[in-house]
Amino acid sequence: MAKGRTQAIQGLLIDVDGVLHVDGDPLPGAAEALQRLSALGIPYVLLTNTTIRTRRQLGELLRALNFPVSDDQIVTAGNATAAYLRTYYPDQRCFLLVEGDVREEFSGLTVVEDESATVVVLGGAGSVYTYDRLNLAFRLLLRGAHFVAMHRNLVWERRDGPALDTDAFLMGLEAATGRQALLVGKPSPNFFRAGIARLGLPAERIAMVGDSLTADITPAQALGMTGILVRTGRFRPSDLEHGQPDVILPSLAELPAWLTGMH
Ligand SMILES: [Mg+2]
Repeated sequence: MAKGRTQAIQGLLIDVDGVLHVDGDPLPGAAEALQRLSALGIPYVLLTNTTIRTRRQLGELLRALNFPVSDDQIVTAGNATAAYLRTYYPDQRCFLLVEGDVREEFSGLTVVEDESATVVVLGGAGSVYTYDRLNLAFRLLLRGAHFVAMHRNLVWERRDGPALDTDAFLMGLEAATGRQALLVGKPSPNFFRAGIARLGLPAERIAMVGDSLTADITPAQALGMTGILVRTGRFRPSDLEHGQPDVILPSLAELPAWLTGMH
């Protein structure tokens, strides 16, 4: 890797699932790496499609795992979706199809679970994605309800193995209704721009660190950032057929040494 590029990186956007932890289990060396980055004074913002936890809950989880991070350094798809709804659909009735305890993010919005909904919001998939709920979403969309997706993750890595995520169901709803969801989280460029704005640096001075080429690396590169792929989480060698990261590291643990040119 060219040293000039290394030195040009002044801030980081870091993915969470598969980079810092997998399903609540910290990845080896990841907390120490973030502590080292913090000690080096390299600013970082966590950019995550997580919708299972609120931003506050995620901050608490990460701090309990010894990751030095404040809530202000976290941008989640759930939090960003709630902000989007408050801005554009403040008076609408929202049907939230989302696994986990993110409803507190949606305070101030009207959340319903019946045919009166005027916005359909898909979040992280899980056992709440029942046939009846998916079919309610389908019927609401046929009737013209607004269509919003917190993210388009197709699969994710759980403690017990790979798991189907939102896009597996979202693509079905889109095919069945002939409509396309508005995307809030990764890989939406606006979601990355929110992280860039939080860092307050030009994109060319930022590296995105993630375990997914399609969700993290390629969209970050499209905005001018350096893409650093880590071989943890949901990384599979065959992923490399779908893009070209600028840097590949075994895990986040190697990032501080790489950044400081000590590798
Ligand atoms: Mg990830």
